[in-house]
Amino acid sequence: MLHKKLLVALVSAVIIGLALHPYSDVGMLTAINSNVLQPVGQIFLRLIFMVVVPLIVSALILATHELTKSQGLGRVALKTLGYTLVISTLSVVIGISLVNTLKPGQGFKISASVEQSMAQNAQKTAKVEENAKSTKSVSQIIVELLPKNPLDSATKALDGEMIPLMIFSLIFGIALSLATRSNQAHLLVGLLDEIYQACMRVMHMAMHLAPFAVFALVFNTVFFSGFSILMSLLYYVIVVLLGLLIQQFVVYAIMLRVFANRNPWKFFKEAKEVYLYAFSTSSSNATLPKALEVAETRLSIPKHISRFVLTVGASANQNGTAIFEGITVLFLAQVYGIDLTLSQQIYVVLFSILAGVGTAGVPGGSLPLIMVLLQSVGIPAEGIGIILGVDRFLDMCRTTINVSGDLVIAALVGHSHTPNTIKISQKA
Ligand code: ASP
Repeated sequence: MLHKKLLVALVSAVIIGLALHPYSDVGMLTAINSNVLQPVGQIFLRLIFMVVVPLIVSALILATHELTKSQGLGRVALKTLGYTLVISTLSVVIGISLVNTLKPGQGFKISASVEQSMAQNAQKTAKVEENAKSTKSVSQIIVELLPKNPLDSATKALDGEMIPLMIFSLIFGIALSLATRSNQAHLLVGLLDEIYQACMRVMHMAMHLAPFAVFALVFNTVFFSGFSILMSLLYYVIVVLLGLLIQQFVVYAIMLRVFANRNPWKFFKEAKEVYLYAFSTSSSNATLPKALEVAETRLSIPKHISRFVLTVGASANQNGTAIFEGITVLFLAQVYGIDLTLSQQIYVVLFSILAGVGTAGVPGGSLPLIMVLLQSVGIPAEGIGIILGVDRFLDMCRTTINVSGDLVIAALVGHSHTPNTIKISQKA
């Protein structure tokens, strides 16, 4: 079974990575890591990333076309938006409450390993700061949601231009359904379906590489980071993990039980391969093909719903990231001894909810937004360097919750569009 292989790869990568971390400056080991393991991880990621754009475009156009034809688009879109807002708000409130109660930043001393990691990550911090500077005004952001040239957005989709591309696909899907009386439109639907299926086949090819890639990706993180940086920031890391666990096992579980009439444990068990993918790749976009497959085959979510909700959600619904952002900003405020006023805290909440929508579903996609948030409430932006040493690990965890949230919303929206006979078989 694939998930067992992935789990073995993950656990052995952690154990071997930790054991070899003290030798991370030994030439032969770093050479093996950079010449053998890293390429395996990158080839796997690129095999998936290369189909993400055609997959998102074809899935969204097909789903929108289908939903418009059955006159369900408005309802599905509204429900998706409603659930996204409710779940994102809950996640930020959980994060902010935890950090205010547990105060992980109070009395925090910058240890030698944190200092070392800040020095190692100085270049990365500067790069994130540079990206954050190119922030636009709200009206400009709204206007630019509509792409001038969708091909241009497609080439930049994995660097933060995914939302304009999705908006184009939505508009195109609606237009296509209005034109389906002509033969050409049918032709295009068939063609898009072929593209979608071919992309999924590429993902299946990549799957053969998955256990090796998971080992390589996780080993690389553990080998270079080790344990000491995690120990120095342990209290902060625990608070983030606690927030993510509450989101998964309380918020999602209750939502599934109450609003989708599903057994949450069974649901989580069926989705485990998706979680392993998300954890290993730290990318919602790279996990999208797997999430689409599992939603249709294992979770029995109607395909026009799952294609719509999951493709939109991979970029626009990031609850784990929202929790992480709220906690990180308040943690750094505590570290610098800055008392945020109530209105500043409310600003952090609102920004974190919106940032979940604006974050690119790629590793470290949320860092530029955290930088903007830090600056806007008067916290030194270079403070982000303090947490960069543990960011990859936290990215793995928050991405898992991001993708899990997309599946949950797909199940919630799917519930109200599923015939009763199927609903009964989905129950405990
Ligand atoms: N890596 C996350 C994702 O792809 C985004 C982030 O929080 O940096 O969902």
